[in-house]
Amino acid sequence: MNQLRWDPTLEEWVAYATHRQDRTFLPPAEYCPLDPTKPGGFPTEVPRESYDIVVFENKFPSFAPGAPEPDEGSPLTPAAAGRGICEVVLYSEDHYATLAGMSERRIRNLVEVWADRYAELGSVDFVEYVFIFENKGEAIGVTLHHPHGQIYAYPFVPPRPKRELEAARAYRSQHENRCLHCDLLSQEHEDGRRVVAKGEHFTAFVPFYAHFPYETHVYARRCVPSIARLSGEERWDLARVLKRLLVGYDRLFGFSLPYMMVMHQAPTDGENYEGVAHFHVEFYPPNRTAEKLKYLAGSETGAGAYIVDALPERTAETLREAVEGAAP
Ligand SMILES: [Zn+2]
Ligand SMILES: [Zn+2]
Ligand SMILES: [Zn+2]
Repeated sequence: MNQLRWDPTLEEWVAYATHRQDRTFLPPAEYCPLDPTKPGGFPTEVPRESYDIVVFENKFPSFAPGAPEPDEGSPLTPAAAGRGICEVVLYSEDHYATLAGMSERRIRNLVEVWADRYAELGSVDFVEYVFIFENKGEAIGVTLHHPHGQIYAYPFVPPRPKRELEAARAYRSQHENRCLHCDLLSQEHEDGRRVVAKGEHFTAFVPFYAHFPYETHVYARRCVPSIARLSGEERWDLARVLKRLLVGYDRLFGFSLPYMMVMHQAPTDGENYEGVAHFHVEFYPPNRTAEKLKYLAGSETGAGAYIVDALPERTAETLREAVEGAAP
C-alpha cells in the first residue's frame, strides 16, 4: 500500500508505505541480498555471478508506479496515490567497499549512472522530482551494509528542495537575476575559512549556516541546474572532489564516517529552473565527535530550529586538515 496524505498545517505530503515493515533488516554478511548470486548459492537481487554497478527497483518501495487511488481523505486533508519510482544503486559487488575507498574511475562511472537515472526517471510524466541519496552507517538507520545508494522519483517537489528553490527564485528577482547559490559560492571562496576541498570544477565547503557540525556542500562552480547537464570534465572533477572529501571524512575520527548524502537539483515538472536550481551535493554526518551523535531532538524536530555546538569555521578547519592528509 502506497498512499499520500496532505498535512494542511505544514502544507506537505506524508507518504505511507505499509509493506516496508517486512523489509530485510541487517542480514548476516553471508546472506547479503545485494551480493552477486554465486553458482550454487542462494539467489540474491542480482542474478549474475559478478557485476560492476547495478540499478534495480526497490522491492519495498516508498512509492510505486501502480499505486491505487485511495478511498480516504477529505477536502481538508486530501489523500492521493503514492505514485513514484524507487531504485537501488549498487556501487560495487564488494560487500565491504565504501564510496570513500573506491577508485575515482568507479565514482566517475557512478556519476554517469546518476546522471542517466536523473534524465530517465525525470522524463516519466508523473515524476516531478528525482532525488538521489545515500544513507550510510547504522547510526543513520541503514538496514543493509552493502555499499549502495537510492533514488526516489517523487510525484511532487519535496518540501526541502522546494523551500530552497523558492528562496533562490525570490533572491533572483530581488538581485538582478543573480543565482543565490553562485553568490553563496563566491562568498565561500572569498572568505576561504570553510572551504575543505577545491577541484577544477567543484568546491566542497562547510556552509556558514551548517545544520550539522561536519555538514559539507559540494557545489558545481558553473551554474548548472542538474547532474545531467555536467560536461565530461565536470563529471570527472565531481568524482575527484567527492573522493577527497570522503577520504577526509573517514580520517576525521579514524573510522568509516556515517552520513546522509543528498543531491539538490532542478525538479522535472516541466518548469524552467535556469539560474534558480544550481546542482550540488550535501552531506550530513550525524557525528559531533568520535563518540557523540547529534540527534534531531525537540528544538530541531518540533520547532525546526537547529542548535549546533561547534562553529563551521572550526569544524571546516579540522575537516580540511583531514582532507589534506595531515593529522587532524
Ligand atoms: Zn553485500
Ligand atoms: Zn548558480
Ligand atoms: Zn541544497
